[in-house]
Amino acid sequence: MENLDQVCNEGFDVVLKARGITKWFALKKWFFEKQAYVRAVEDVSFDVYRGETLGIVGESGCGKSTLARTLLRLIEPSRGVIEYEGKDILKMSKQELRALRRHVQIVFQDPYSSLHPRMTIGDILCEPLRITGIMPDKKRQRERALELLSMVALDRSYADRYPHELSGGQQQRIAIGRALATYPELIIFDEPVSALDVSVRAQILNLIEELQEELDLTYIFISHDLSVIEHICDRVLIMYLGHVMELAETEELFNNPLHPYTQALLSAIPQIDKAKRRERMLLEGEIPNPINPPEGCRFHTRCRLATEICLTKPQFRDVGNGHFVACHHVKEGTAELM
Ligand code: SF4
Repeated sequence: MENLDQVCNEGFDVVLKARGITKWFALKKWFFEKQAYVRAVEDVSFDVYRGETLGIVGESGCGKSTLARTLLRLIEPSRGVIEYEGKDILKMSKQELRALRRHVQIVFQDPYSSLHPRMTIGDILCEPLRITGIMPDKKRQRERALELLSMVALDRSYADRYPHELSGGQQQRIAIGRALATYPELIIFDEPVSALDVSVRAQILNLIEELQEELDLTYIFISHDLSVIEHICDRVLIMYLGHVMELAETEELFNNPLHPYTQALLSAIPQIDKAKRRERMLLEGEIPNPINPPEGCRFHTRCRLATEICLTKPQFRDVGNGHFVACHHVKEGTAELM
């Protein structure tokens, strides 16, 4: 991915750099069987710029959550390089990793299962301060917990409650508050609103946006919901079956999607405004099995434009304006399909 190095870094302040991230999960095998792997993420590269929200999008099973976990080494990648502020995360000792987790936090999809049911909200909010050791004084921890409650717009009295006493939206506010406890710079949100009622989604998204502005945070935002991504992200990376298909600024991607997979995803977004409606492009067939994914372009078994050349892997190419696409049928150096 030389192009990515040449173009994306120019003039941008890179917080996190991922190159060639690959994660294969070994499957259990019987004695004489050949080892099989789930090829969850393969050769994924991108940069995250300071202060931006980078969206990672794809259908379920495309590898986006696995990718997010490898960035924090909650799952060890099989290959690749991940740098945070120029430091190689994969070479960090346990102690250095603990320090890193002060700066980089993650918020998961299901708030209830990410909060300890027998801990009070106050203790949950203080937990990262204890683990990282940045605030050993108990009184100050309690003050920080109360401060975090007000940052996520909950009353101080919630500190003495338990997770089961809170609604889903309130639980997600606590999960966000806990992620903020150690004054992080980068937060990874893994489908943070998809387990919530539609009525509270907008409130949580607004909170996430307000906190970013207030605290100068950088976000990686993972979602399968393109309406949410369009609303909240500055740039978007599209994944399919563990590979990156397209990367562009949000406005550019939504106005000028080049990859046939992106085009199909965008055509499925319901639009009330008639002028914005796109011709519906149905995705035929099922997403292939990641144990035995298609060779060449991963999307070729479902692509309406596939030809013989698609049996070879397309390069991830720069088509200008920070817009990258992996498709043989996008013209070299232009934002057009051949
Ligand atoms: Fe479709 Fe071929 Fe482009 Fe893949 S490389 S998206 S199969 S046209």
